[in-house]
Amino acid sequence: MTVAGAGALGLSTALALADAGCAVTVCDPLDRGQASAVAAGMLAPVFEAALEAQTAPAFDILMAARDLWPGLEARAGVALDRSGTMAVGDEPWLGGVRGALGRLGVRGIDLPRRTAQALAPGLSEQFGHGLLVREDWRLEPRAALTALRKACDGAGVGWRQTAVEGVGEADWLVIATGAAQGPEQLAPELAALTPIKGQILRYLDLRGGGVSVRGEGVYAAPASDGLAIGATMEAGVRDTQPDAKAIEPLLRAATRLFPALEQATFGLAAGVRAATPDGLPIVGFSEAPKVILATGARRNGWLLAPLVAQVVAACVTGGEAGPYARRFDPRRFEGGA
Ligand SMILES: Cc1cc2nc3c(=O)[nH]c(=O)nc-3n(C[C@H](O)[C@H](O)[C@H](O)COP(=O)(O)OP(=O)(O)OC[C@H]3O[C@@H](n4cnc5c(N)ncnc54)[C@H](O)[C@@H]3O)c2cc1C
Repeated sequence: MTVAGAGALGLSTALALADAGCAVTVCDPLDRGQASAVAAGMLAPVFEAALEAQTAPAFDILMAARDLWPGLEARAGVALDRSGTMAVGDEPWLGGVRGALGRLGVRGIDLPRRTAQALAPGLSEQFGHGLLVREDWRLEPRAALTALRKACDGAGVGWRQTAVEGVGEADWLVIATGAAQGPEQLAPELAALTPIKGQILRYLDLRGGGVSVRGEGVYAAPASDGLAIGATMEAGVRDTQPDAKAIEPLLRAATRLFPALEQATFGLAAGVRAATPDGLPIVGFSEAPKVILATGARRNGWLLAPLVAQVVAACVTGGEAGPYARRFDPRRFEGGA
């Protein structure tokens, strides 16, 4: 069995397949994933559903995916930060967030300014309080890729540093190639994907500590390799070149939250997310023989990875794919989006 792509989806899937007793080889011309390596690593079902109307209907799926992470933490040693995520902003915006949480059945914890500042060092004085949600977690993407790869090694997964161009001798080919363009010829369902470029800033001198913060049009993740501020959503853009103009709104929003960022230096990274018309991934059998799809996770690929892996493993073993597999059906866009 061949898995094309060594990002979050490919590695999680390879591990699930190997654990199910399959002989697996992962092929990727890179060794670190593409979007997966630059992501912020938030496992954020609540704020993703609360802040984005398109994502709200998928809240049940996102929560189910998050609930699979402790299993992957135990299996592969991927460390999870469960300290939570706090919304901070002007009162009308925060009121809207509170309302959205209520519609999801989640209660945020209102924190006074000083407590909010203790949880997010450097937070501006201009905000009266924060709204903490314990359900949203975080991981460190690069460390998680390393841990998943090590777990795959231990499970007997083989590696080839090459691009997959066809099914070849494989009994199954799992396409987990993110937003890459080459594999489109391997499965017609990949035509439903569009790219969304994401730029993310990293303040290398501001490491770790505190909870993740959600502001209006921005998030801040206190990663060990530098505070991550993200991320742009540049629909239809596929390049990974830095674009100073596109990050201006992000910078403005970030320095409103954390005024000291105005003087701080940052590095810029970009990745390309693969998105479907409904924002959910395409996971399952392709019309193309022997091909299974595991891509299109848009801005929640890390969060969704263990659920995607579970569905692919069920396809291969004939096991129970669970209640969400139908909503990932790769053929759901046939006849137009
Ligand atoms: C700036 C940014 C921030 C993000 N933040 C978050 C976040 O906080 N939380 C979250 O859950 N998600 C986040 N995401 C989304 C997440 O990163 C993606 O959804 C996820 O990484 C997709 O993983 P993947 O394995 O599908 O793709 P990728 O990580 O892109 O990996 C695809 C791999 O396929 C390989 N490949 C391509 N063509 C071939 C071929 N022909 N043969 C073999 N291999 C091939 C590529 O080299 C690449 O390594 C973010 C994305 C960006 C860009």
